[in-house]
Amino acid sequence: ADGAQKQEYQSDVARLRKIVINSLYSHRDVFLRELISNANDALEKLRITSLTDKQVLGGADDLNITIVAHKNEDGTAKLVIRDTGIGMTPEELTKNLGTLAKSGTSEFLAKAEGSTDTSNTGNLIGAFGLGFYSSFLIADKVYVTSLAAKTAKNPNPSQYVFSSSAEDSTFEVYPDERGNTLGRGTEITMVLKNDALEYLDPVTITELVNKHSSFSTTFPIYLFTQRTEEIEVEAEDAETEAEEQEPADELEIDEEEALVEDVEEEKEVEQKKETKTVTVDKWVHLNSQPPIWMRDPKTITDDEYTQFYQATFKDHQKPLAWHHFSGDSGSGTAFRAILFIPSHLDDKYWQNPLQSAAKDIRLMVKRVFITSDLGEDALPKWASWVKVVVDAEDLPLNVSRETLQSRKFLKQLQSIIVKRLLQTLQRLHENKDGELEAWQLHHIYNNVFKLGAVEDMRNREKLASLVKLPTNQRNETTLNDYVADRKEGQKQIFYLADMGKTPEDLAKSVFIEKLHARGYEVLLLGEPLDEVFVQNVGRWKKLPFQDVAKAGLKFGDEELDPKEEKERQNQLNEEFKPLLDFLKKETAGVIRDVVVSNRLVTSPCAIVADAYGYTANMAKLLNSQQK
Ligand code: ADP
Ligand code: MG
Repeated sequence: ADGAQKQEYQSDVARLRKIVINSLYSHRDVFLRELISNANDALEKLRITSLTDKQVLGGADDLNITIVAHKNEDGTAKLVIRDTGIGMTPEELTKNLGTLAKSGTSEFLAKAEGSTDTSNTGNLIGAFGLGFYSSFLIADKVYVTSLAAKTAKNPNPSQYVFSSSAEDSTFEVYPDERGNTLGRGTEITMVLKNDALEYLDPVTITELVNKHSSFSTTFPIYLFTQRTEEIEVEAEDAETEAEEQEPADELEIDEEEALVEDVEEEKEVEQKKETKTVTVDKWVHLNSQPPIWMRDPKTITDDEYTQFYQATFKDHQKPLAWHHFSGDSGSGTAFRAILFIPSHLDDKYWQNPLQSAAKDIRLMVKRVFITSDLGEDALPKWASWVKVVVDAEDLPLNVSRETLQSRKFLKQLQSIIVKRLLQTLQRLHENKDGELEAWQLHHIYNNVFKLGAVEDMRNREKLASLVKLPTNQRNETTLNDYVADRKEGQKQIFYLADMGKTPEDLAKSVFIEKLHARGYEVLLLGEPLDEVFVQNVGRWKKLPFQDVAKAGLKFGDEELDPKEEKERQNQLNEEFKPLLDFLKKETAGVIRDVVVSNRLVTSPCAIVADAYGYTANMAKLLNSQQK
C-alpha cells in the first residue's frame, strides 16, 4: 500500500508468533477471548479518559463491540471484530502490535519453548497477556484498522492500517485510503485459514463468547447474524383477483353471511400465496445477562466464578476460594463485591513483600470500571495479593482518590475487604471448604500469615491463629492447639529457632533434649520469618514464648522448688568451679559466661544465647539483611 513501510518484528515477537502459530492449534479458540478482552480494555480506557476530556467521545456515540463474519463469493472468509474504544495512532499500532515491551515476555517464551506440554501453552497466552498474536491461530492475514480518539494533543487523528500475515515476520503500517471510516476505535479483520471456517458460524461464536467473555465484558457485544427464513408472500395475480371479488356493499351483509364469506375469501387468498426465502439481518446482543457480581450467588456455578476470575484477573489457575457479598460502606454507599483468594502467589511477592501494593481491587461505579489503583495503602501489605471486584452504587463517576467522599468510602472499603478476607481465610482454615483447600491455604499462605502478624497490629491475633508451625511432637500445630495440649504446669511456649534448618535437624538439637525427654512440645522454627513472628506476637493465651537456646528456660515440672533448685545450682557451681574457671579463661572474649546446665540429657555441653542478646539465628537474619 501507499506510504507503507515494511518493518521487521522485534526478534521476541517473531519467536512468540512462531509458538503461537505452531503449537497452539488445540487452543485456537482463545483468539476470540483475547480480542474481546482487548476491545473491552480499549473501551474502558476511552470511558475513563472521557471523564476528564469529553471530546474523546466524538465520532462514535455508542460504546460497544461488534462481530461480523463475511463469506465471500471466491470462497475466502473474514471475521471482523470492531470496537469504538480509544483506538491507536500509527505509532501505537507499531509499538503495541509490533513490539513486546512486556516484562513477562521472556518468562513466557522460556516457559512455552521449554514445555513439551502444549496444553499448558494456551493458558500461558492468557496469563501473560500476549493476546493479540493469538489472531494468527485462525487467520492467514490480519488487518488492524484504527482511528484514535480525539484528544487535545491529537485533535485530528486519521485512520491507519496495520497488516501482517502469518507466514512472514514483517508487518506494515499505512494510512487508510478510505479515510476515517470508523468514526473511532479499532477494527480487526482476520482472513480466516481454510481450516478455520467454523468461526463463521454464529453458533460457534455465541458459545465461545458465553463461555469466555460474557462475565468479564462490561460493554455490549453484538453479533451480526443472517438467518434465512421462509416467509409467505401473496402471489401478484392472487392479490388482484381478491380485490376484484371484494363486495362493494360489504357493510350491508348480515353477520352470519359475512363470516362465511370471510372464510371462503381467506381460503382463496391462501391458495394464491407462495413461500419465498429471504435473508433476515439481525444484531444479537450476546452478553445481555447482568454481570456476575450483580447476580444472586445461589444462581452462579463454581465454574462461572472460576471463568470470571480467570478472565478478569488474567490468571490461568483456578482460585482457591471466593466470597461474594454485598454491603454498605457505612457512609451510605451500597456496593456488591466478590473477593478471590488465588491459588498461588505472584513470583515477585516474596522479593519485596512489604513494598507490594494491592493492584487487583477493581473498583466500579454502577457497572462501569473506574480504577484498580486504589493507592499504596489500599490494603495492608500482607494482603496485597487479594483479588476483588467492587461495584458501588452511588459514588460520583469521576471518583478520584482525592475527593473527600471517595476517600471516606475507600477507607471504609479497605476495612471491609480486610474483614471479609480474614473471614474467608478462617473459613478455609477450619476445613469448611474441604481438607485439601485447608492444606493448600497453609501451603501457600503460611508465611503470609506470619508476615501479617508482624505488620498488621490490628489483625495480629487473627493472623497468628492461622499460622501452623512444626514441633518435636507433630508435623504442625497452631498456637491454639499448642497451648491447649501443653503439659500441666507448663508456663512458657518453647521454641527453637535456627533459620534454614529443617524441623528434622532442629529436633536433633541438644537444646531440646531434656524438654523432649520430659514430654514437652517445642516449636521448631527454621523459616526466616519465624523468629520475628514469635517475638512480635510475644505471648499466646498469656503464655510467653521461650527460646530454648536462651537463658530463662523454665520447666513446669521441676522436681525442686525454686529455692531448693537455686541451692542445688550453687552447690554444682561450687563443685565444678575449677572446670568453670578453666573454661571461662580459655573462652574469654568469646563466651560471656560458663554455667552448669540442667537442660541437657546426653550432650556434654551447649552454647546458649544471653536472654537479652541476639540468638545466633537473629544474628544470621540481620547479617543477611545488611548485605
Ligand atoms: P495486552 O492486552 O496484555 O496488553 P495484547 O497483545 O492483547 O496484550 O495487546 C497489546 C496492546 O495492543 C494492548 O496493550 C493495547 O495497547 C493494544 N491493543 C490491542 N488491541 C487493541 C484495541 N482493540 N484497541 C486499542 N488498543 C489495542
Ligand atoms: Mg490483551
